[in-house]
Amino acid sequence: MTISQRLHQIRQQLPSHVRLIAVTKQVSVPQIRTAYESGIRDFAESHLQEAISKQEQLNDLKDICWHFIGHLQSNKAKKTILHFDWIHSADSIKIVRRLNQLAAESFLSPKVCLQVKILSDPNKYGWKEEELFAGLSELENCKSLKIKGLMTILPLGLSEVEILATFKKVKDLAHKIKRQSNLDLDQLSMGMSEDYLLAIQAGATMIRLGRIIFGKRG
Ligand SMILES: *Cc1c(COP(=O)(O)O)cnc(C)c1O
Repeated sequence: MTISQRLHQIRQQLPSHVRLIAVTKQVSVPQIRTAYESGIRDFAESHLQEAISKQEQLNDLKDICWHFIGHLQSNKAKKTILHFDWIHSADSIKIVRRLNQLAAESFLSPKVCLQVKILSDPNKYGWKEEELFAGLSELENCKSLKIKGLMTILPLGLSEVEILATFKKVKDLAHKIKRQSNLDLDQLSMGMSEDYLLAIQAGATMIRLGRIIFGKRG
């Protein structure tokens, strides 16, 4: 199947409130153009240098919305907010502080998701639930960021039942935070190629799909 056929098939399964983000790490510029021509406007990258190089080659496409989904390093935070509309992977108070300061200095207001880690996973970054609650008042004061929601990546090897339950916990967590703060966490960025249908079932508003659109990477 071609990229546009795959996209067509995926779109037929999506409720209208779910935003489909094409993850283009290790995907070539011509393939990205094909996805664009098939109607995709949201693209995600996880490595800053790779992203900037592709953005330069695609700068004739003015209406792309770029999403950053990789681990953010403090020393690259400034470039990241300059090159991306959304940052899904704000995974600690330290990086949120830094983003807020840089956004203020640059007169930008990037949209941000807080990456949470519901199950412990040594391979993943993210806020634990208790860290998030401890940081709430500081998060409320990050006036230069538009903190829009929660993002999660699940550990490998879970059953479908566990996947669904964990995504639901992320949704419950967002509700709990909304009740206890003035943060407006309406977005849930969760679901990848293997688990997006379960994520949608649990309330995802943004899904991040790579391989199921573009085929196996590398
Ligand atoms: C690579 C990646 C994806 C896409 O994963 P696929 O399995 O290719 O769909 C989604 N989210 C993040 C954070 C990623 O790094």
